[in-house]
Amino acid sequence: MNTTTRTDAGTGGLPDSLTSRFEATFGAAPDGIWAAPGRVNLIGEHTDYNEGFVLPFAIDKRATTAVRLRGDSTVRLISTVGDQGLVEADAAALAPGTVIGWAKYPLGVVWALQQHGIEVPGFDLLLDSDVPPGAGLSSSHAIECAVVTALNELTGAGLTAEEMVTLTQHAENVFVGAPTGIMDQSASLRGASGRAVFLDCRDQSVELVPFQAQEHGLVLLVIDTKVSHSHADGGYASRRASCELGAEVLGVKALRDFGVADLVEASGLLDPVTFRRVRHIVTENDRVLQTVATLRSEGPAGIGRLLDASHASMRDDFEISCPELDLAVDTARSHGAIGARMTGGGFGGSAIALTPVQHEQQVRDAVVRAFAGAGFTAPDIFTVTPAAGAERVR
Ligand code: ADP
Ligand code: MG
Repeated sequence: MNTTTRTDAGTGGLPDSLTSRFEATFGAAPDGIWAAPGRVNLIGEHTDYNEGFVLPFAIDKRATTAVRLRGDSTVRLISTVGDQGLVEADAAALAPGTVIGWAKYPLGVVWALQQHGIEVPGFDLLLDSDVPPGAGLSSSHAIECAVVTALNELTGAGLTAEEMVTLTQHAENVFVGAPTGIMDQSASLRGASGRAVFLDCRDQSVELVPFQAQEHGLVLLVIDTKVSHSHADGGYASRRASCELGAEVLGVKALRDFGVADLVEASGLLDPVTFRRVRHIVTENDRVLQTVATLRSEGPAGIGRLLDASHASMRDDFEISCPELDLAVDTARSHGAIGARMTGGGFGGSAIALTPVQHEQQVRDAVVRAFAGAGFTAPDIFTVTPAAGAERVR
């Protein structure tokens, strides 16, 4: 199996330094600075495209963009990270599949706005982001959501958060060519400090649910395994196909419409692999609902067993974990975490571990030791807290 190790993120733009960098690059001050966070998914994996439930939150790491409208149709983009330098494009001549590199994210948003009938003039943009790319924290959506928030304001388009979610999904699906759902943008655009975003992917309705780990003596650790396995894309497509097959055979519009109580009956109707895929989705949807109820009644200390069950289901039924993720989860659990699971699409990326503050260091040390012992790339371990959604910062 091929694995790739990723590069690091930027520093996360402080408005003053971003403004001076923008001026040094483009020769004038930006019209404003807009930021949008990455997200971590607390629970509800692969349920989005089954029209089910997810519970992500906007994290305290974000993409920050300084933007200045121009008088012509030229778009100039530069990031503090990477070696692509200044990218130039014509806003009036954008087409899906023609842009390579990170510019496809901001330009995809421009294109999607235009498809929506909104005129977007040229602009200069400087990006800085401390969302690590490829770690399962949606650094790409953070960029898209910062850009759509900026352009929504600068063009006076007046789009609602729901409309911006749909628009950025269109940008990712068609312009970027990634078959993603609405979870990431919904968290980034609609998240709030101290809250998780309980999203119904069928109708886009959102309820903000309290998730204040610190107040309960807990931290949520992200363990970025730093690997992306090469079969991630194929694995995603085949899982989607299994879910569609399952829904068709079971005679439901989407697996969202199938209940845990009906699983016994389903086992006789599906081949063993499809059954296990279906069982993951059906039980995962139920775990999201249980997590929401538990957060409301008991608080975060009660959700550990649900995180554990979610991981086991992804490892055994959906089969999207990998040795690095399993080692991170198992080590965190055996050194004091009260619940842990892989998060994101699978085959690499990050795990999360809900950990009592007094055990945080012990968990960190144990995971680093275990990775070294297994000969894996050293993981990156950090805490995340639910932070504000996309906003103008200056
Ligand atoms: P994820 O969204 O899960 O982090 P993706 O592969 O969807 O992973 O998006 C990662 C891509 O986003 C990178 O390959 C790069 O093109 C872009 N990206 C993320 N952060 C930055 C940044 N700070 N500067 C430039 N491009 C970035
Ligand atoms: Mg992405």
